[in-house]
Amino acid sequence: TTTTAEGKKKKKKKQQQSLLVPPLTSFAQLRSPRHGYALSKRVYENILRQGYTAPTEVQMGALPVLMRKGCVVDGAVDLLTCAPTGSGKTLAYVVPLLDEILAAREKGVREKGVRAVVVAPTKELAAQIVNEVMKLAVGTGVKVSLMRKGMAATSAKGESAGIHVTSDILVSTPLLLLHAIESEEGKAEFGKVRRLVLDEADVLLDELFKDQTLGIWKALREIANNDLRTSLWSATISSGTEEVARNMILSSTTTAPPPPPP
Ligand code: ADP
Ligand code: MG
Repeated sequence: TTTTAEGKKKKKKKQQQSLLVPPLTSFAQLRSPRHGYALSKRVYENILRQGYTAPTEVQMGALPVLMRKGCVVDGAVDLLTCAPTGSGKTLAYVVPLLDEILAAREKGVREKGVRAVVVAPTKELAAQIVNEVMKLAVGTGVKVSLMRKGMAATSAKGESAGIHVTSDILVSTPLLLLHAIESEEGKAEFGKVRRLVLDEADVLLDELFKDQTLGIWKALREIANNDLRTSLWSATISSGTEEVARNMILSSTTTAPPPPPP
């Protein structure tokens, strides 16, 4: 009958709508439940305090994918983003991380330990990212730190000196991070990590860093029992790198978690 046909049509339309992600047209929308967002007032004010009056193009596209509730799977997606240098990619991945950590806190989940890891190819860039996170996190209580050599130090006897990362967000270059994850405390220290951000992903997946980056991704994914969401950010991506990147994204969405032990 027409009613069921209409019902089907409506259902289909609804499904399509939930997959469509309307772009963010103003930062104010991030405070609007009607638009599907619930960003903390403090982070919103911190964005405005930077003097940013409107989202950049990459922010318009990526923030909804990572932050809009009731769309896709509430930010639980892997994402590969290509946008030119200077287009504001940092804010596009930092704000969703802050939003998730603060939303969990709002629900009374006071998690301790690193929840998100950002990897960058150079120490200078990593330090800049920490700086950017700090600016956007002012007054929220969210802690960020730069991975330091000592954090993954092992004593002469081979005993691990401990990492003891007390931050919510950790920013690191690849090798330091890989060593820390592979250290004795790695499993415990990184046990709560559910978000991995690869900044300058084309560099991180190029010859020099590829094995380290994939090592980090595999280790964190295993620790997280496949419940790790990865986002890759880059200005350019070569065809070889793109294939590796696509495989990362596809494999984590298609691999079923291993069955629980008996
Ligand atoms: P990318 O990583 O894409 O190269 P960055 O994240 O480093 O770009 O941002 C480049 C510059 O743009 C930074 O100085 C940053 O503070 C600024 N910026 C970010 N978002 C906005 C915005 N919405 N409006 C104006 N400036 C912005
Ligand atoms: Mg950048």
